[in-house]
Amino acid sequence: MRLGIDLDGVVANFILGWMTRYNVEFGTHLTEDLVDRWDAAADLTHFPDMSDFWAWAGAAGGGPTVFRHLTTYPGSLRTLNELAADHDIVILSMKPDWAASDTFAWIAEQHIPTREVHLVRHKWKVQCDLYLDDSPYALPDLVANRPDAIVCRYVRPWNDPVPGTVDIHDWAEFCSFVKEEECEWSQSA
Ligand SMILES: [Mg+2]
Repeated sequence: MRLGIDLDGVVANFILGWMTRYNVEFGTHLTEDLVDRWDAAADLTHFPDMSDFWAWAGAAGGGPTVFRHLTTYPGSLRTLNELAADHDIVILSMKPDWAASDTFAWIAEQHIPTREVHLVRHKWKVQCDLYLDDSPYALPDLVANRPDAIVCRYVRPWNDPVPGTVDIHDWAEFCSFVKEEECEWSQSA
């Protein structure tokens, strides 16, 4: 199967990444558990709105962007490597232009087992058999435009149930789910 895998909030811990940097630069003590909704950064930081936040995350003093140095969520790399033995890992990430080169560098550094990376706004335009995402915007978009695919919601505090998606709570659950689907898929193929 072609597995369409999102990065931020699924594989890459973007929240911990920007918070660590923000805390060092501005002397704050923000913690991940404070994030309970999409775009929470506008409320948690001194930035008036998200465009100011993104300007900081991107330029960040002319050095690498926030996307260059992110940790991975527990079990994500191990699971992707395990699934890559039988499936194609297709990376689908919505990124601004300024984040593209750092994203490619990060993917390489983490040895993400993929031959295919798409930095796109409309993920459904890339055909996959199964998608895994955490975005309250991308998920309904995938359900609406890829009715034949399985769409998995990585359950996070910043998303709510999306009709037509399968809830996934951690990478072990995702691994088991894909292997169950794999049996059905190979029988119907
Ligand atoms: Mg995401």
